[in-house]
Order: sequence, then structure tokens, then C-alpha cells
Amino acid sequence: MGVELLNPHGSFWNYIQGSVKAVGLRYFVFAGLAWLLGYVFFRRRWAHRKIIPAFPEASDLRREILWSVSSVFVFSVVGALTFLASHRGWTQMYWKLSDHGMVWFFGSIVAAIFIHDALFYWCHRWMHQPRWYRWVHRLHHESRNPSPWASYSFSFPEAVIQALVFPVVALLVPIHPFAFALFMLWQILFNVLGHTGYEFHPRWLMDSRWGRYLNTPTNHVQHHERIRGNFGLYFNFWDRWMGTNHPEYENRFREVTSRPRPVAG
Ligand SMILES: [Zn+2]
Ligand SMILES: [Zn+2]
Repeated sequence: MGVELLNPHGSFWNYIQGSVKAVGLRYFVFAGLAWLLGYVFFRRRWAHRKIIPAFPEASDLRREILWSVSSVFVFSVVGALTFLASHRGWTQMYWKLSDHGMVWFFGSIVAAIFIHDALFYWCHRWMHQPRWYRWVHRLHHESRNPSPWASYSFSFPEAVIQALVFPVVALLVPIHPFAFALFMLWQILFNVLGHTGYEFHPRWLMDSRWGRYLNTPTNHVQHHERIRGNFGLYFNFWDRWMGTNHPEYENRFREVTSRPRPVAG
């Protein structure tokens, strides 16, 4: 998957092909799996954990998939450019695992996650300014009740902004392409979980210290529903530091996670 990206003498077109395969496969496998589990197989069994009990319409899913496919191409162009630049030595990406050892291999993934979290939070807040919202971010919010297919449902300008994470991480962090691939798996997993619409965390999370640090699907679904507050991605500390959590966020989480399980049969 995406092996073309590892060829130091590849053309831009080779890198585009490698990126489309990697980005597209990731999106369709993860969003498709979440959709099969949450919207087909376990729709009834998990109903008590559906943050917004109703399900989106087929027309919503079609729009989300269509715009996500468009984003896959935008991400692929930016990804291909990033790899092209990296093979020429213009970024900090490195190719030999032994150059930095295994501790840094995993350390670089953690660094990428924190950089992406901060980048996303501030770009997201900027996109919500009335002046930019309409042109950049409104399309993502057409999904008031998102499905996993909404994970990459971005307008063209928003897809370009979201894709900035590739060059930013490669410029700031010495990172191996395999570490970058693992970071991308974390990214799609979290993104899909945030849009699938189910809260899977236990109820005690919100009243423990983890609830202060970790973000939850309830946080992002509430962001889609209310279009206010909750700008974070992987963690909740930016929203807490900046006082931008929705005032009803914690109560909503407790409500969703307190619903009784349906009786079997
Ligand atoms: Zn938003
Ligand atoms: Zn979203």
C-alpha cells in the first residue's frame, strides 16, 4: 500500500499513485468498517450509545462520500509533494530506521500527534470565524448528524488546510515513513470514531483525570450538532485551556453514557 512513496527516484505521478492508494484505502476501510458495525450489524445493540439517536439520511451519506473522495485527491497531491520534497532532503523525514533508533521511532509518532492536535485546534477555530466559515468549513457542517463517511467531507479549501499536517510534521519532526504511516492510521481511526456517532468511553471517564485530557466522540458530534464550542481533535486540553468546550459537553457525555442497555431478545 503506497510503496511507490518509498522510491527515492520516483516521479511526482508515482507519488500521486502511492498517495491515492494509501489515503483512499485508509478512508474506505476505516469508514466502511465503522459504517458496517455501527449502521448495519450493531445498529440495535448499540442504540443506547448513539449520541444523536436518529440516523443520517442516504443523501447525507452520498454527500459525505463524494466530498471525502475529493479530499482524498487533495490529500494525495499534498502528500505526493511532501514525499517529493522529502526524497530531495528538504524535510526532516529520514529513511534508515537505524538513524534515530526505535525509541525515537515511537517518539516521533507521539510528537506528530501533539503537533496535529494543536494545528487542528487553531485552524478549526480560525475556520469558525464568520468571515471564513462560509467558504471554508460550512460544507463539513452540513452533516449536523455525521456518519463515519463524513471523516474527510471537506470543501476544497478546507481539504488543503487539513492536508498541511503532512508537510508541517515532515518539516518539524525527524520522522520515518513507517512512523508517518502509523500516525496516519491513528489519525483516521480517531477521525472515524469521532464521526461515527457512538460514545464508546465508559461513564467514569468524565469524572477522572482522563476526561480532562482525552477527547471523546460526544465532543465532536456535539460540535456538529450545535456548531459551537468543542474545537479539539485528539485531546481536550486546548478546549479546556481556552475555555471553548461547549457548556453542556460534560453533561451530554454523562447523559449518553448513563442510558440503560436495551434488554436482549
Ligand atoms: Zn467545525
Ligand atoms: Zn467533524
